[in-house]
Amino acid sequence: MNDKGVFPLDKFNDIETPFYYYDTALLRKTLRAINNETGKYDNFLVHYAIKANANPKLLRLINEAGLGVDCVSGGEIQAALNAGFSADKIVFAGVGKSDKEINLGLDSDILCFNVESIPELEVINELAERKGKVANVAFRINPDVGAHTHANITTGLAENKFGISMTDMEGIIMKAKEMANVRFVGLHFHIGSQILEMDDFLALCNRVNELQDKLESKGIAVENINVGGGLGIDYHNPNGAPIPNFKAYFETYANNLKLRKGQILHFELGRSVVGQCGSLITKVLYVKQGAVKKFAIVDAGFTDLIRPALYQAYHKIENISNEDALDTYDVVGPICESSDVFAKDYQLNVCQRGDILALRSAGAYGEIMASQYNCRQLPKGYVTEDL
Ligand SMILES: *Cc1c(COP(=O)(O)O)cnc(C)c1O
Repeated sequence: MNDKGVFPLDKFNDIETPFYYYDTALLRKTLRAINNETGKYDNFLVHYAIKANANPKLLRLINEAGLGVDCVSGGEIQAALNAGFSADKIVFAGVGKSDKEINLGLDSDILCFNVESIPELEVINELAERKGKVANVAFRINPDVGAHTHANITTGLAENKFGISMTDMEGIIMKAKEMANVRFVGLHFHIGSQILEMDDFLALCNRVNELQDKLESKGIAVENINVGGGLGIDYHNPNGAPIPNFKAYFETYANNLKLRKGQILHFELGRSVVGQCGSLITKVLYVKQGAVKKFAIVDAGFTDLIRPALYQAYHKIENISNEDALDTYDVVGPICESSDVFAKDYQLNVCQRGDILALRSAGAYGEIMASQYNCRQLPKGYVTEDL
């Protein structure tokens, strides 16, 4: 427990809890690490998966670092545009794009639609025709590659709802080539999230090579390859491993994915960009001794951070107010649901009413997934410069 993050505790005392705190120095360092690695290759392009966190203050820094954006809804396209990202750096994926969302993409002249079915392709072609436009389309192929991660965040298996099956790949490309208002520009993949084993990405490389060979033998050229995101972060060690292993990640692709001449390799990283820079800051309301357990009841709940309830996710928790001896707690929120538990049998420096706890590694899929269940307020997000 002496391994704690460094926080401006004196400033935290003046802010209403719970709230998200983002360490912008760490975000900048993370973005530099990404650019350092991709800079080694002249054809690697990173899009930030905005669904991980759309806080405008973070988006500004990500835009400044030169990344593009990967969106999965019209709202995300709008958030990216509002944050100043240029439309020609926006790609739009999603298994169920509405007409309104497609029209927003067309009106904004986004870089590419990552298309997930033939009916969707037909709708994009039709809506583009009405506007007299030609939409760039890439096809999201389901590569039937498993990933060593939680079942709810595996997306690249044949049984998952995402993408077009490999057997339908050629058919949809040929169909697109016959349509006047779409232009086939590439293949898209995304196998899941919080992936720490490079072998999973290697398996994707091998699959992409196979599919490219197959298309090449039929005389079909592919301009771009997009391999999605999914690189994980070390939730158990946010202080020791604040920056994900981008070197190993990009090297895996550089060494194993056989790009054709002129091809650009697109990445869509979310969690690994923003995960470690964010913490959920919460106050201990009560310490309650139950029949068999001691509870630290905090003012944040799963409405503020749903990952533990949704995916049984682990977040390191630190009592940043106190250096006293350790005690064991179930750290729970105030929501009227039994799943509103952040950690069970967790060792913390002794907790008292008013102590401030930090739930670490909460920058990705935290603030953005907040809800108002129980008529609660949405948590605010502050960056270092706000305090
Ligand atoms: C969620 C998502 C990503 C980002 O995943 P991370 O694990 O956060 O890197 C990338 N691409 C698509 C299509 C996604 O749905």
